[in-house]
Amino acid sequence: MTARELYDECVTELKKAKIADAQSDSRLLLEYIADVTYNELHLHPDTLIQEREVRACRDAVKRRQKHIPLQHITGIQEFMGLEFAVNEHVLIPRQDTETLVEEAMRIGLSGLRILDMCTGSGCILLSLLHYSHACEGVGVDISDEALEVAVGNAKRLGIAADFINSDLFEGLKCKDSADVENSDNKLKFDLIISNPPYIPTGVIPTLMEEVREHEPHIALDGSDDGLAYYKRIVNESPDFLVTGGRLMVEIGHDQGQAVSRLMTDRGYSEVSVVKDLAGYDRVVRAEWS
Ligand code: GLN
Repeated sequence: MTARELYDECVTELKKAKIADAQSDSRLLLEYIADVTYNELHLHPDTLIQEREVRACRDAVKRRQKHIPLQHITGIQEFMGLEFAVNEHVLIPRQDTETLVEEAMRIGLSGLRILDMCTGSGCILLSLLHYSHACEGVGVDISDEALEVAVGNAKRLGIAADFINSDLFEGLKCKDSADVENSDNKLKFDLIISNPPYIPTGVIPTLMEEVREHEPHIALDGSDDGLAYYKRIVNESPDFLVTGGRLMVEIGHDQGQAVSRLMTDRGYSEVSVVKDLAGYDRVVRAEWS
């Protein structure tokens, strides 16, 4: 079977199962499963594909037909031009989140201490460390399974970062006064960044099957109003920020006002909302001074 025939078969099969991005999914399946790159497919469509690869691709298509996310089949998602391993224990990195990372890069990351709250796959923290100079980073998550993925991603990208299991700031707090004296500035950060769970619980059943059935609800569910994590992060971040430190969070398109209000009420300055490429509110940032 030729590369082109295999591609066409994948597209047809995925369309039968009403998979929205049948073409791009087929292209990526060929690339990751059968090792046929996009260029090869277009420049040499008549290349013969080994039987073993054809079978692997057909198996992958069968799984994708069940609406298992493409990234759970390939095990990979590209984010900020880097490849991240993903599985069912972490949120699949979204293009939306690149807006947050790009916004953070705008402040000129050099020699800063960065805390990524709810790090998941580690995509935010590791991209920032990859594209910056002499920064130190800590990623926090409540899920050991997620942290395992993040640690693996740090290794595969060759980036040094610390990952800590904690329910938001709980595990970072000093337990007694001796700790406070010994802690110097170790637990203070120049930047706290987060893409926390922010979908209102009631909205989760309306999400597409790939997300609703296969991505971890713990990474999506922001409680009744979707704001539960913002409230805690906004309230507690000042204890962990240096003077002049920044807080930046990703938000849902309709949460800009509510999250800005939380920050203003808590006493942050320079509170502002940043839009993504589609023109939706996507990031709220502020300074603690
Ligand atoms: N920080 C990770 C990401 O942006 C995980 C976010 C989450 O679990 N809500 O992909």
